[in-house]
Amino acid sequence: VIRYQKVSKSFGDLKVLREIDLDIAAGEIVAVIGSSGSGKTTLARMLMTLEQPTSGVIIVDGEPLWHKEVNGELVPADEKHIRRVRSKIGMVFQQFNLFPHMTILRNITEAPVHVLGIPRAEAEKRAVDMLNKVGLGDKLNVYPSQLSGGQQQRVAIARALVMRPKVMLFDEVTSALDPELVGEVLEVLKEIAAEGETTMLLITHEMDFARDVADRIIFIDKGRIVEQGPPKVILGNPRNPRTREFLSRFR
Ligand code: ATP
Repeated sequence: VIRYQKVSKSFGDLKVLREIDLDIAAGEIVAVIGSSGSGKTTLARMLMTLEQPTSGVIIVDGEPLWHKEVNGELVPADEKHIRRVRSKIGMVFQQFNLFPHMTILRNITEAPVHVLGIPRAEAEKRAVDMLNKVGLGDKLNVYPSQLSGGQQQRVAIARALVMRPKVMLFDEVTSALDPELVGEVLEVLKEIAAEGETTMLLITHEMDFARDVADRIIFIDKGRIVEQGPPKVILGNPRNPRTREFLSRFR
């Protein structure tokens, strides 16, 4: 469902990603690991259209994201096209960014009602199902400030999932949490992964979690994919010296 073709990204003189080629199949769960500053977040932000690639093409569900095909050639796409293709993707960040003045139910139903145009009653039904799934079915009418960080992050996950995206991006969703709250959020992600319906791109520093849920692990170093494969191979017996050095920091 996702294809990066020779995607590069620079900020001024700084080359953050270099000719990334990456295919993610429908239903696949891919974890991205690598040092701070290696370009992991930028990889995800381009898919979310928060950054534009300097060169290369990103294809989502058969359609170019940043380009449109005209007479067999790719030309820069207009806002409308970009917004439509992007709506196939959901993202959860480190910071939960819930709307503080809205109840949990309202936080989750805003986008389905106003973006998808789903009737409110139907959106509320979906929201309740989703909140039950993340274990917060009893928190419909409270405000974000009344919840713990772990609970707020579970709401943020429910809010993204309720849009039924083809692909979900999770960017270090546990790194802003107190250690004792990390487990409950990873547990929710594991359950979603186990259902097998959502394609997931996870950026994570949690190696044990990546081993448990990912079909494939990608190691990025200095803007390049230097090694990828099944968790057992990448975490257990990596070939590249850079991967080994990176992983040795987690032991
Ligand atoms: P971390 O694990 O710390 O989140 P990362 O692998 O996700 O790191 P990125 O956030 O993708 O790394 O950043 C890669 C590099 O690009 C860093 O050197 C960062 O400073 C730089 N960078 C990111 N966004 C911008 C920007 N908008 N303008 C300039 N430089 C940027």
